[in-house]
Amino acid sequence: PVRVRFCPSPTGNPHVGLVRTALFNWAYARHTGGTMVLRIEDTDAARDSEESYNQLLDSLRWLGMDWDEGPEAGGPHAPYRQSQRMDIYKDIAEKLMAGGYAYECFCTAVELEARRDAARLAGKPSGYDGTCRNLSAERIARYKAEGRPAIVRFKMPDEPITFTDLVRGELTFTPDNVPDYGIVRANGAPLYTLVNPVDDALMEITHVLRGEDLLSSTPRQIALYKALIELGIAKDTPAFGHLPYVMGEGNKKLSKRDPQASLNVYRERGFLPEGLLNYLSLLGWSFSADQDVFTISQMVEKFDIADVNANPARFDLKKAEAINADHIRMLDVKAFAEACGPWLRAPHANWAPEQFDRAAWEAIAPYAQTRVTVLSDITANVDFLFLDAPVEDEASWTKAMKEGSDALLRTAREKLEAADWSSAESLKNAVLAAGEEHGLKLGKAQAPVRVAVTGRTVGLPLFESLEILGKEKTLSRIDAALA
Ligand code: GLU
Repeated sequence: PVRVRFCPSPTGNPHVGLVRTALFNWAYARHTGGTMVLRIEDTDAARDSEESYNQLLDSLRWLGMDWDEGPEAGGPHAPYRQSQRMDIYKDIAEKLMAGGYAYECFCTAVELEARRDAARLAGKPSGYDGTCRNLSAERIARYKAEGRPAIVRFKMPDEPITFTDLVRGELTFTPDNVPDYGIVRANGAPLYTLVNPVDDALMEITHVLRGEDLLSSTPRQIALYKALIELGIAKDTPAFGHLPYVMGEGNKKLSKRDPQASLNVYRERGFLPEGLLNYLSLLGWSFSADQDVFTISQMVEKFDIADVNANPARFDLKKAEAINADHIRMLDVKAFAEACGPWLRAPHANWAPEQFDRAAWEAIAPYAQTRVTVLSDITANVDFLFLDAPVEDEASWTKAMKEGSDALLRTAREKLEAADWSSAESLKNAVLAAGEEHGLKLGKAQAPVRVAVTGRTVGLPLFESLEILGKEKTLSRIDAALA
């Protein structure tokens, strides 16, 4: 059975690259009926934070991605936070040393650097040169007596390592490219290089799906796995698949610090979780040649790692927005009205809670649903319903109010007063007729009316908006504009 893991380090805010990795793992688990493990890689006390941990869990929940084993869910391999598994790593590091798979390395930073520079100058590989691989017992004793600090280094095999990446096919790494590497710091703290494959082994992970930036750790982990299997700690080496880079502006790798990369930005702008996941799933995968918009359950049904593309994926904000807009249209209107909840209240909304009118909101929601790209768009689209007076926007005012606008507004007011306020059609005819009297087409005639009543030159369908706002408020706003 498939067992995949998502194993973030709780540093900083979640970003879209991380979410894409989580999504592909989750979708693969759900597609295969396998198990999704959430593991928190929090062994770096200086960088990890509880706040970031809480944000990670909260983000996954908001996105609707669940996990079968992990923090809160529990499971047979608990605990799932690496900070609570330190004894395990210590024990395994000792077993690796006792078995001759790892050794203490006493080289100082200064020595390492000097030899690295010399190797570079000589055009030789500049990775660790194996100096401490075979130290005599006396030498080790002397270093210890001197109080020299030692890290633990894993001994890489001297042959090439070949594996079949699930995304990029067969890959080979030669020993020159993968020198012996540190697994425990001098202060005893285990490193990612140890804890990640050890936990993958103990948690019986079958498929490691992660970003291409981690490709270089894979040959090391495969070698370490081999040692763990020989020691009877691991069963099988998992399969590895490396998801393509995500490129941002200017064809540069999307960096965590890029504002476009922050998950919170999408959440605050009012992306729907399904819209965002739909878009992120297209970063390295496709649903079909002619369909970009689909539900998450449709994605899960189709998702296979074999279909992931190795080429870098380009992050395209416009496309993300367009897909999100489609997901907004796909909601039933009740769900849409519900989803807008946070944007109808402070701090997003610029009206007080007591100004909010639920009936007016429910009446306008179907029109709003066909217009907005992200839910935060809603606030400016409906504020005219709840504010006592329309927002003051000078640019809109100048744009719509021309010479003759007053005369037009006066006629429109008269005709609107006489119109049937239970019919948007009748309100439209009133403005149409006013326009005709002044030689204006509907578009030109309705612009001053829209600005007088809503404060803006663009917005939801005008006559439905007027009907929902009501006769009294509409007419008094036109009066105010004429005053
Ligand atoms: N904690 C690592 C990271 O967030 C996990 C990498 C992996 O998937 O192996 O980069």
